[in-house]
Parts: sequence; structure tokens; C-alpha cells
Amino acid sequence: MNLNDPQLFKQQCYVGGAWVSSAQGATQGVDNPATGEQVGTVPALSAEETREAVQAASDAWPAWRGLTAVQRGAYLHRWAQLIQDNAKDLAVILTSEQGKPLPEALGEIKSGQDAITWFAEEGRRAYGEVIPTPSPDRRPLTIRQPVGVVAAVTPWNFPMSMIARKVSPALAAGCTIVLKPASATPFSALALAALADQAGIPAGVFNVVTGKASVVGGELTANPLVRKFTFTGSTEVGKTLMAQCAKTVKNISLELGGNAPFIVFDDADLERAITGAMASKYRNTGQTCICVNRFLVQDGIYDAFVARLSEEVTAMRVGNGLEDGVRQGPLVDQQGLEKVEALVQASVALGARAAVGGRRHELGGNFYEPTVLVGLTPDMPILRQEIFGPVATVVRFKTEEEAIAMANDTEYGLASYMYTNDLGRFWRVAEALESGLVGVNETGLASAESPFGGYKESGLGREGGRQGLDSFLETKYILVGGLR
Ligand code: NAP
Repeated sequence: MNLNDPQLFKQQCYVGGAWVSSAQGATQGVDNPATGEQVGTVPALSAEETREAVQAASDAWPAWRGLTAVQRGAYLHRWAQLIQDNAKDLAVILTSEQGKPLPEALGEIKSGQDAITWFAEEGRRAYGEVIPTPSPDRRPLTIRQPVGVVAAVTPWNFPMSMIARKVSPALAAGCTIVLKPASATPFSALALAALADQAGIPAGVFNVVTGKASVVGGELTANPLVRKFTFTGSTEVGKTLMAQCAKTVKNISLELGGNAPFIVFDDADLERAITGAMASKYRNTGQTCICVNRFLVQDGIYDAFVARLSEEVTAMRVGNGLEDGVRQGPLVDQQGLEKVEALVQASVALGARAAVGGRRHELGGNFYEPTVLVGLTPDMPILRQEIFGPVATVVRFKTEEEAIAMANDTEYGLASYMYTNDLGRFWRVAEALESGLVGVNETGLASAESPFGGYKESGLGREGGRQGLDSFLETKYILVGGLR
């Protein structure tokens, strides 16, 4: 890896302000998904070593929570500035471990930095209330307080921004945190810790631990010192961790999987819909929680939509994300590739047809061809689960009611999209969609200022926006009596 500052590439955990290895010397390797070469190794910490990190966060909490929001914000601003100064290195680390094209990695670094800057300020607005009194001699009021030590577990698809979206509101609220990044992408998290260290964030306030998920995650979900557990990942793992947290009744936030519909009505602006379709479906090789899983396209515009989408998809360059002009990188690993391949093959066996692509890419390794599938029926497995790959499935519908019913026919409820120029239809459909996020003639949903999260089995709670700070605050009610 060609870095301006090689010190950002850390192969140790960050606990209590120190760089540590596992006492047993246990490690796990991380591969570059584009080349198959090993990027490096990180420690495989034991449950006992994970407990030490929780203890470090707990020890650091009283002093951190005792600072003013302005003082905590100043640390976060310094951290964000260092992230901006080192954006190119962070992007190279990210692409090397995750595979997305370098410009996308730079975009992710910027969005994580935005979240940190935003929460650095939002921490100053953790207002309580003075409540109108029910009796003359009393005054009820509320104050907001940090929930305590936070444990966070994050996925590999956004190795930087998913961390920034959790760590910055937690720190701004006055919490301390222990983070376990995905085993496929720990180096972005460790580079962020190195910059937090440079920013002077006090020892123990932000800790990064790596290792086997069940060992590290088992401790983080069981440890009674952890008061808040925040997770981003699959619905399946989220449910398991939710159950583990029940034993100590932790405050939990879950950002889970999705099955996003993208509805194109006859009255839509076709070119705008195609731009949105390409941005949402093929970003990060289709490995985003809010990327389109199902294109639902009305009868009158269906043929034109499939033809234009196929043209755009055919023109995409696939390759190593570090190379210029590459718009689609590899899938993260062989397992991801095999899942996509199996879903496409099963659909074709049931009668679907690949208008474009439909097989492994000639580059080999973890590469899959950008694909457009047509001729699908609602019962096909590919429409019922997260594809997490570069495969667009296009389904025809006739009426608005039919589109809404198809869109909501899933246990997920994260993002939905619709393309229409009819104002009445926009309101009717936006209100009827069972999802936490709705993009109307737009797919760029995530921003630091806006609440992000799902309905149904896509999760609990929100990240981003003022709601993102709320997730790390308790409300304390205080009643003052004897005033007359
Ligand atoms: P995943 O398999 O659920 O893993 C997510 C994290 O959970 C990783 O750090 C993983 O660790 C850890 N984990 C797995 N099993 C665990 C266990 N038994 N105990 C403790 N931790 C455990 O998900 P993924 O494949 O990394 O990410 C893709 C999923 O994330 C998709 O479903 C996507 O939709 C979802 N996602 C949702 C959002 C959102 O905002 N809603 C955003 C991004 C991604 P290891 O890596 O060590 O296994």
C-alpha cells in the first residue's frame, strides 16, 4: 500500500490509548478482494482482553462525560480535520481491504467526516425541558444524560462511514465507546483510531478491538458495564445480538438489512430514473443496505427503462478499484460471489432472463458481471432477499395499488424509491410505503443532517440527524417540590 503516512496502517488494537496485540499472539488475516493478496493481520482478542477494553471505556467515562459539549466538540473537530488531511491515505486503505473504486472510497471518507463535524456541533443541542406544572408547588423538568459505555459492531460494506455515524454521536453525547469492526475491513477502523489518538481524544474514550465475532461480540453483548449496544449488519446477526443483549437489558440500536423497491411510474422522467438506478444499484458493487433490490416499472415505460438501463450497465468498466476509470469493483469475498451467482442461476432456472451479464466476470477472483434480469415473478427468491451484488431485477406492474402492494411485500423496511412527476401520487405512495427512508426522484438518501434507519425487520432507532444523538442519551425526569 502506497501511503503518505504509513503510520496510519495499524495491525494492532487500540485499547485505553495504547496499541495492543493479543497476549496469546493470535491473529487473523485480511485479504484484498481485488487481488486475493493478504493486506495484513490484526489481533484475535480473547473475551478477557475484550473485557479490558470495556473496562478502559468505563474508566474513561466520568472525565469524558464531565467535559462540556463544546470541549468534546473541539476534540471531534480536530479528529474530522485530520481525517480530511489524510483522506487520500484513508481511501487507499479502504479500497485495499474492501474493493470499492477509489472515488467511492473518497466519497465515503467525506461522508464520515461530515458526520463527525455535524455531531461535534449537535452535542451542544442536547436540550432538556421545563414541563408545565400539574400543581403550584412543584416544577417538573427533564435533563439529557449520556447513556454510558457504548459497544458498537459494524459491517464491511462501509468500513469508515458506519463507524463515524456511531462513534461521533456517542462521543458528542458524552459516552465512551468500544468498537468491533468487521473482520474483512478492520484497517479503516484502526486508521481512524490512529487519527483520534493524534487529535488528542483521551485514552479509553474510543477503543477498537478485533477478533472472532462470537468471542468479542459475546463479551460486548454480555458485559454489564456496556449500557448501549449499537449494531449495523445483517438482520440475521442483529436478531441474535438483540437476544444476547436482553440478558442485561441494554439500550439497543440496530441498522439491518433491506430489500429496497425502486418504483418507476409511467409519468417519470426516464433519464432521471436511469441516473438514480445506476447510482443506487451499482454503487459499491450493489453491496449497500439501501441499494435497489427490486425495480418495479409500470407497463408504459417498462421497455424503454430496460433498454436504457441495459445500455448504461453494458458501458460500465469493471476492475481493481485502485485503477482509473473503474466504476465497479469486486464482491467482498467468494461467499458473496457464490450467493449472487446462486440467486441468478435459480432465477434463470425459474424462467428469468439476463438482458445483460448473468455470470462471473472474465477477470475471475471475486468479480461478477454487472447484470440486468428480466422476466421475473414475485415468488422468485432473488426478489425476497438481499442480493448484495450488481444484479438489477426488473419487474413489470400495471397500477399504483399493485406497485404499493409489491413494494411492501417484504419483511424488510429500510429504503424505498419512486420516480414520478405527479404530486398527488407522490404523497399517496410516500405515505403508503412501509420503510424508514423514501427517495422521490432521488437516491442519495444518507446525510449527516437526516435520520437514517428502518421499519419492520430493517432495524430499531435512527442514525444521523438529531435523532442520531438521541440514541446515546437518556432522559432524566426531575421533580422539584415544596416551592410554596
Ligand atoms: P454481518 O454478517 O451481520 O456482520 C456485521 C458485523 O457483525 C461484523 O462486524 C461481524 O463480524 C459481526 N458479527 C457477525 N456475527 C456476530 C456474532 N455472532 N456476534 C457478534 N458480532 C457478529 O453483516 P455484513 O455482511 O458485515 O454486512 C452486510 C449487512 O449489513 C447487510 O445485510 C446490509 O444490509 C447491512 N447494513 C445495514 C446498514 C443500515 O444502515 N441499515 C448499513 C450497512 C450495512 P465479523 O466480520 O467478524 O464476522
